[in-house]
Amino acid sequence: TSARNNNFLALIIIDLDEFKLINETYGHAAGDTLLKELSRRLSTQVRKSDIVARLGGDEFGVIINGYKQETDIHILTNKLMGVFDRPIDYGAESFHGKGCLGVALLGPEELPRDAAALLRAADGALYRAKHKGKNTIVYYDQRLGETLQQSASMENALNKAVENNELELYYQPKINSETLTLSGAEALLRWKWTGHEQVSPAIFIPIAERSLSIIEIGQWVLEEACRKMDYWKKKGLNLVPIAINVSPIQLQSSTFIRRVIETLDQYDIDPKLIELEITESTLMEHVEHISDRMNKLASIGCKWVIDDFGIGHSSLSRIADLPISKIKVDQSFVQMAPTSPADKKICSIIVLLAHELNLELVAEGVETLSHINALTLLPQDELQGFYFSKPLTSTDFEVWLQPEQFSQCVD
Ligand code: C2E
Ligand code: CA
Ligand code: CA
Repeated sequence: TSARNNNFLALIIIDLDEFKLINETYGHAAGDTLLKELSRRLSTQVRKSDIVARLGGDEFGVIINGYKQETDIHILTNKLMGVFDRPIDYGAESFHGKGCLGVALLGPEELPRDAAALLRAADGALYRAKHKGKNTIVYYDQRLGETLQQSASMENALNKAVENNELELYYQPKINSETLTLSGAEALLRWKWTGHEQVSPAIFIPIAERSLSIIEIGQWVLEEACRKMDYWKKKGLNLVPIAINVSPIQLQSSTFIRRVIETLDQYDIDPKLIELEITESTLMEHVEHISDRMNKLASIGCKWVIDDFGIGHSSLSRIADLPISKIKVDQSFVQMAPTSPADKKICSIIVLLAHELNLELVAEGVETLSHINALTLLPQDELQGFYFSKPLTSTDFEVWLQPEQFSQCVD
């Protein structure tokens, strides 16, 4: 490559979105057709001297070399994204592929230190692109480099978060929509990274998932919630069902089910008091592997809840097939319902759907009375949000569990 170092060189990784969904909906032969056609289209976009390769699964790698100007590379990556524009025919059907691009670019003076570094950069850019949404291109740059470095040090710190006692569970009350009394709570994780400000779970959970430390952290969450419930019970407080967020990575671990059962056993917790929240997108992506595991826990009495419902793309037949007890309407719909007729309509449809399927319902992110009034709720439905309470430390939440407080939490 040194002979060409007055040119630009780029490594581009292309990762398909929703490939599993296409495989599942249309069958594996359709998935193969999609990969073949995309590979063909990619090859037609680049020059003979460039390289297009399948990196395995639903990823392609493209190496382009010998470009004189950076803008040429931008034009080319846009052309590569163009392979997703036209639908792909499959028998009588046709479907649209979608994908994200991560680009690592080396300028004329920059020589790659090693191929692995280039690959890491492109992979980092791709990871960022995936998080931004579908059909996105992200270029690796200085700032992304810093963010990645930051997340690398966070990744290391998260590995020791349990051991260093840096984690804490907060509890956010859930309220029955008719009686306006406490009906349950959601356990929400907080991380006080030693020497830093508290970090939001929205930031650290994805990093913990990527490094798999979420498995240990998730187990800590379950144990801590059970430990607290046991403590509250012994203190004579009223127990309510506690909802725990479960990451798809945890569900993929073969020991997950056994550890949940053991933990409930150890603290003598009635499985009926445990709700497991899983996001809609997770469910749809991994459904074939996890439905058995979900059934196992449902059979002992744990409830499964679909979190952030409405923003993913669920198939209704799937939901009916899985042991789901409850649906949590995503807060974006709840909050937009009073002002946006479209969101109000989606909200009403979700509420109706839940009731029709005999599912319990939680409206999340309730911040004002107008949010509640925009919903058509049934007596058993639940409400959760800042209007009633923010997530509380376990000590503050205990006040909600006092027998005398129990019937007059909200007025
Ligand atoms: P989530 O499961 O959708 O949790 C609800 C989030 O909305 C929480 O953010 C909560 O503090 C916030 N929230 C509650 N009421 C309101 C409201 O009225 N208005 C607004 N604007 N926000 C409200 P939080 O605690 O920052 O958690 C963010 C996300 O991190 C969670 O979203 C969940 O996906 C994840 N998470 C939190 N704890 C855990 C955990 O123990 N395990 C896993 N795997 N994920 C967790
Ligand atoms: Ca949740
Ligand atoms: Ca949610």
